[in-house]
Amino acid sequence: MERIGAHSHIRGLGLDDRLEPRTNSQGMVGQAKARKAAGMILKMVQEGRIAGRAMLFAGPPSTGKTAIALGMAQTLGPDVPFTMIAASEVFSLSMSKTEALTQSLRRSIGVRIKEETELIEGEVVEMQIDRSLTGATKTGKLTIKTTDMETVYDLGTKMIDALSKEKVTAGDVISIDKTSGKVSKLGRSFARSRDYDAMGADTRFVQCPEGEVQKRKEVVHTVSLHEIDVINSRTQGFLALFAGDTGEIKPELRDQINTKVAEWREEGKAEIIPGVCVPLPYAVQGTIVKLTTVTLFTQVLFIDEVHMLDIECFSFLNRALENELSPLVIMASNRGMARIRGTKFRSPHGLPVDLLDRVLIVSTQPYTPEEIQEIIKIRCEEEDVNLADNALQVLTTMAAQTTLRYALNLISCGQVIARKRRSERVEVEDLRRAYVYFMDEKRSVQWLKEQQGTLMFEEVEDEGAKKD
Ligand code: ATP
Repeated sequence: MERIGAHSHIRGLGLDDRLEPRTNSQGMVGQAKARKAAGMILKMVQEGRIAGRAMLFAGPPSTGKTAIALGMAQTLGPDVPFTMIAASEVFSLSMSKTEALTQSLRRSIGVRIKEETELIEGEVVEMQIDRSLTGATKTGKLTIKTTDMETVYDLGTKMIDALSKEKVTAGDVISIDKTSGKVSKLGRSFARSRDYDAMGADTRFVQCPEGEVQKRKEVVHTVSLHEIDVINSRTQGFLALFAGDTGEIKPELRDQINTKVAEWREEGKAEIIPGVCVPLPYAVQGTIVKLTTVTLFTQVLFIDEVHMLDIECFSFLNRALENELSPLVIMASNRGMARIRGTKFRSPHGLPVDLLDRVLIVSTQPYTPEEIQEIIKIRCEEEDVNLADNALQVLTTMAAQTTLRYALNLISCGQVIARKRRSERVEVEDLRRAYVYFMDEKRSVQWLKEQQGTLMFEEVEDEGAKKD
């Protein structure tokens, strides 16, 4: 069964080439200023001009902060995965808060590994194998003529065995996979064929014995710095990646991996430009695959409900943002003036001012009735619900009086009620019934007041609240 998530209608930021927000595009409606700001940040990410930056979406609930962040993720595309966490996930019993944050940050640094298989192909001019040697070691020489040059290769035992297995002799046209040492015989006639003559020296097409045409093979793996940490961690091993339970990773191991990255940079092999892919030759480390090129690129870490972090996490983040390997950190909060967790001080959005000072703050505004109506329409389409025109008007009014989320939740409830009376069309009556069955937040508070203390523990005032 296909599950429809709260944001599954979001397919991008809905901006045009000049980063101007379109009225209704890619599932996005309204919130023009915030979408434009998000688009500008993305452009900076793509141009590699956003080292150690952070941004904060601040605004009332249901104003699209998460939706815009997801729109950014969609715009960046699948190659730049978005790491998304809710701040409360950091408080785990199995690892410290700073370890959880470090893992999230390192998950947001991508490493792209390009494995290339090089093929040599050409006609065998001469092949000499030193027959005096028997047993395990054999040596020899192989002269191969390609379209424009003749090359002599020293042969090792493995290659000699591969050549003998294919019964290669002078005059044959062969292809050798340089990485695996695999030999394929292309046949004598191939050398004389017109196609082969027409190929330039750089052409890497190989006609395989089966007749299929292959190009130089290229396999690309994308992993994150965190995955490299886990793979190289002796206590965890790569299986932990599948289990998801990676536990704490020793700082020495991270240091080793960081040193390796620093070495690449020193040797001029690597340059890390945030958000931009930089190819670099790579010396194999640990259990990572055989490879030829590596690309490091920073990705995006999204921390929702960021006010749930505490003062230790905030000071850790402050420092982490200064690290060269820091990803773009996007945060969201719906809090106004709030207590900074772990202190008795209040601050805007519950974030310490020194952190606030370094983030770009983007505010989101409540929607107009017209925008709400458009969002409801998009959701009906996404959830495959047929909503009558007057029901759409009623639901829009309900959203204005309650919340957008509540109204969006009533769409599927309305559909279930409509189906009970064997109709595929949701009418005003169905919404009314849904409204009676399910309370919104305001009515819930009202109901509590009316209960006048019949619920448990209402009579005891919260000590924490008193101190506040
Ligand atoms: P909170 O502060 O409570 O976390 P939020 O600002 O993150 O709220 P969202 O979760 O992004 O709000 O929005 C609520 C719902 O409305 C989601 O289903 C979201 O996809 C949808 N939505 C919000 N803004 C838009 C928009 N501009 N266009 C289309 N859909 C939107």
